[in-house]
Amino acid sequence: MTIFRGLFCRGDDDHRCYHYFPCLLDPARRSTLYLKVALVMLHLIFIGLVFLFYGDFRDKTPLHPWYMALYLLLFVATLAQYFFTSGSSPGYVLDTMRKINETNALARTSVASKQPATSKNGNIVITVDHREPGRSLLGSNELSWTKLVMDMYPPGASCRAWTCSYCNVLQPPRAKHCHDCDKCVLQFDHHCVWLGTCIGQGNHCRFWWYICEETTLCLWTCILYIQYLQTNILKSWWVDVIMIVLLAILLILLIFLLLLLFFHSYLILTNQTTFELVRRRRIAYLRGIPGRVYPFSKGICRNLYNFCCSRSNLYGMERLPTAQELEEKSRPYTCLNILSCRCCC
Ligand SMILES: [Zn+2]
Ligand SMILES: [Zn+2]
Repeated sequence: MTIFRGLFCRGDDDHRCYHYFPCLLDPARRSTLYLKVALVMLHLIFIGLVFLFYGDFRDKTPLHPWYMALYLLLFVATLAQYFFTSGSSPGYVLDTMRKINETNALARTSVASKQPATSKNGNIVITVDHREPGRSLLGSNELSWTKLVMDMYPPGASCRAWTCSYCNVLQPPRAKHCHDCDKCVLQFDHHCVWLGTCIGQGNHCRFWWYICEETTLCLWTCILYIQYLQTNILKSWWVDVIMIVLLAILLILLIFLLLLLFFHSYLILTNQTTFELVRRRRIAYLRGIPGRVYPFSKGICRNLYNFCCSRSNLYGMERLPTAQELEEKSRPYTCLNILSCRCCC
C-alpha cells in the first residue's frame, strides 16, 4: 500500500516517500551510486557468464594466456576509465574563474612585493569565501574576469546577455548552465546520466576513451558469445536461451555504442559539441551560420591535437570567430583546396 502511495502521491506531505523510488528522469531521485552499482553488475553478469558457461575459453587459457589476460585487462581498464571519467571535472566556469583570479592575484602580489613597501612586510592577504565563490570572486576581480570574457565576444556584445541567471557569473562562449549539476560548464556537451556528471571541456577526451573501451569490450564479448553458441549449441537448451538473449542485448548495446563513438568522433574532428549540434538554431552565436560551416573548427589535425594534447587555449575557452573568419570558412571548396587539404589544416 505504501509503495502504491509512493508511486502516485503528489502532495507536500508525501514528497518524502516519493524520494525512495529512483528515477532516471528526475535529478532529485536519480542515485548515481545505484547507477554505478548497476553498471558494474551488468559488466560482471555479461562477462562472468562467459567464464561460467564457455568451458573451451577457460581450457584454452594455458595455451593462449595472453588472450585471456588482454580480455581481463580490457575489462578492468573499462571500469577504471568509467570511474575515472565519472569523478573528473567537466570544467566548471566558477572553478576556471577562481583559477584565473588566483593567478591574477598572485601576479599582483609579486608585483607589489617588488615595489617599495606599501605595507610592513609586502604581503597581501587575499580572503576567498568558498561558500559563495561567485559573489566573492565577482566582487574583488569582476573587472578582470569580465574583460577577459568580453574580449572573446564581438565588440558591442552585452555583458548582461551572457550572464548566467542561476550562477550569476559571466559565461565564456560555448559555456552553458547544467541544471543537473547546477553549475555552468565550459564547452558543455551534455549531462551524462550513466556517469553522473557533465561532459565538457575538462573530460570530453576521457569520455571518448571510455566509449572506445566500452565498445571494444562489448564487441569482444559478442564474439565470445557467438563462439560459444557455434561450438556448444544444443548441449543445454536453457543455457542456449540465456546466451541468445544476452547476445541480442549485447548486439543492441554494440550498435548504440558504435553510433555514439562515431558521433563523438565527428564532433571532435569538427570541434563541435552535442549541445551546439542539437540546438544550433537556438544558440545566439550560431544563429545564421550555414550548417556546413563549423565556426570553431581549425582543421581536422589541429582540432584533434587540441582535443587530445594541447592545453594552449586559456582554460579551454575559445573566442567567437569574427565575421571575416566565418566568411573564410564558408567559402566553397575548390580542387586546389582539396589538393592542399584545406579541411585538415
Ligand atoms: Zn550557471
Ligand atoms: Zn551536469
